[in-house]
Amino acid sequence: MAYSHSQLKTFEECALRFRYKYIDKIPEPAAAPSPAMERGTIVHDTLELLYKKIQNSGLVMTREELHTHIETKMIAFRDRYNAVSELPLSAEIYADELDISKSMIDRYYDSYYPFNQTKINWLEQNINFDLPNGAKFRGIIDRLDFQGDQAIIVDYKTDKSIAPYGTFTETYQQQLTSYAVWVMNNYPHVVKSVTGKLIYLRLQQEVTWEISHDMLTQAVTNITDKIAKIEDTLFRYNMGEKDSFWPVEWTQCRRCAYQVMCPLWKHRFQDDEVVIVSEIGETTIKKLVDKFYHLNNQKKELEDNLKGIKEFLEEYVTSHADEEWKKLYGEEGELKIDYKNELKPRDDKNNELKQLLLDEWLLDLLTMQVNTSRLTKFIAENPERLADIADMIEKKEKYTVGRAKEKKELKK
Ligand code: SF4
Repeated sequence: MAYSHSQLKTFEECALRFRYKYIDKIPEPAAAPSPAMERGTIVHDTLELLYKKIQNSGLVMTREELHTHIETKMIAFRDRYNAVSELPLSAEIYADELDISKSMIDRYYDSYYPFNQTKINWLEQNINFDLPNGAKFRGIIDRLDFQGDQAIIVDYKTDKSIAPYGTFTETYQQQLTSYAVWVMNNYPHVVKSVTGKLIYLRLQQEVTWEISHDMLTQAVTNITDKIAKIEDTLFRYNMGEKDSFWPVEWTQCRRCAYQVMCPLWKHRFQDDEVVIVSEIGETTIKKLVDKFYHLNNQKKELEDNLKGIKEFLEEYVTSHADEEWKKLYGEEGELKIDYKNELKPRDDKNNELKQLLLDEWLLDLLTMQVNTSRLTKFIAENPERLADIADMIEKKEKYTVGRAKEKKELKK
């Protein structure tokens, strides 16, 4: 199997979707193509046409000719969309997509006419190469230019904004760097340096960077590691580990063609089932799920309310410690008050005490809070250390209020 960036990305997003698509090869049902994705394809295709014409005949197509090409492609897209969609593509969306596509090409025309800045070597070039672990990697370079002994890998972007640093390094930079591996393998005596270039068609902006030798080595390592992870998952799957390709619920699940078979979602698409429950009578599974869901929400709300009231009352009792109450009374119930002495870090010595407890392995590393019960135990077991920490802690009375009893019970 030759892996591509989009396959590696699919595996990282949802391993189960990867399995359905590339291992089980379950065809995705024909769905209406996304206008935004199609716009990207049409613009790429238009730029390819522009440069192919220059390569083949030296002629530069006019803006009008490019617009005509976009219109032809958009009409074909609308026909394909309407053939599979329940609702036809709206006139507004069609007009918008046409307008955005033409304006991207116009901006490109304004920036690069007469398109002779570099020598164009490859357009929409399919590439593949072997990785050190024997796996194959493949991709498509939008455009490969040469300027002397420098190769420039160009990728067109139709994004509305420049990719944030994380997306840039993890996706775009990785992608173009892996293509650079192919360039260096295929032009070892011609190419001395490789540059990556993203052209943001909507923004009329370029992002360029030199692809260093270290980046090439790192890209090969990253891809090899990712493929090794996929192949390990596949091995475990073939050995009978059914869940090795795990589903990951994320925003794009709603667009996933495999939702109906995915264990995270498939029950949603199944018919409801009538059941009889002793406490409720006849109902359905979906109604029971809803009832459980709502009751659980109410329970959570009640617990939050209880917690808030309890905290308030405990503060109230603490602020009236002089009263020495043992109970608090309402009209219908009562609350029992307990208190205990606790050793607590002094506010101004908290960090110093944390460091001391870190040294002694007595800090709760999960919450990074001083664990007061461990502290108490530590002092009990190490009385000689008491002097070190005595001025870092203070004794505090902690009040707690307990469960209410029914008034009827009170009168008994
Ligand atoms: S529906 Fe979501 S979780 Fe299920 S396979 Fe598709 S992407 Fe993965």
